[in-house]
Amino acid sequence: MSADILTELRRHIRTVPDWPVPGVQFRDITPLLAEPAAFKLMIDALAARYEAMRPELIAGLEARGFIIGAALAYRLGVGFMPIRKKGKLPHECIEESYLLEYGSATVEAHVDALRPGQRVVLVDDLIASGGTMGAGARLLQRLGAELLECAAVIDLPALRGSQQLREAGLPVFALLEYA
Ligand code: AMP
Repeated sequence: MSADILTELRRHIRTVPDWPVPGVQFRDITPLLAEPAAFKLMIDALAARYEAMRPELIAGLEARGFIIGAALAYRLGVGFMPIRKKGKLPHECIEESYLLEYGSATVEAHVDALRPGQRVVLVDDLIASGGTMGAGARLLQRLGAELLECAAVIDLPALRGSQQLREAGLPVFALLEYA
């Protein structure tokens, strides 16, 4: 990936200090999405990586993973599968829960969202603790997917989420790292 492309993407990501709670540096991709050239650059950068891996399906995590994942799926000419917060999908689901700082959260996928053996890339905007991505990955594995990679635009390596995912045997990729 060219450094120029990554610098350009970074230029359009806004940091909002102390949101949603004090101490969190929220990495806001909405300015990037609003700028057509930057949005295209981001999707093209991901497409360049995944074209060669020949995914058959892109799975996106609610909510920003839908925006990135759906655009990537369209660009690659493959299907898109939403992984949603509990209670949003209408058909029969399987669920996976993960721990938050306080309490837990649950994500769901339709039982028939993919064919066993299907080649899938899992997409979200950002990996912090890795809980969301990990739960999504477990759902895909339970459904029989061949999980090619967990992809994010941003990784926060200091929180060790991506490291833990890799230690659990999952392939992880992020375009950008924020300290
Ligand atoms: P985690 O499960 O801790 O890896 O958190 C990742 C999910 O929470 C992603 O869906 C992100 O959209 C969101 N998230 C967590 N931390 C941040 C942050 N600092 N800036 C933007 N989004 C975040």
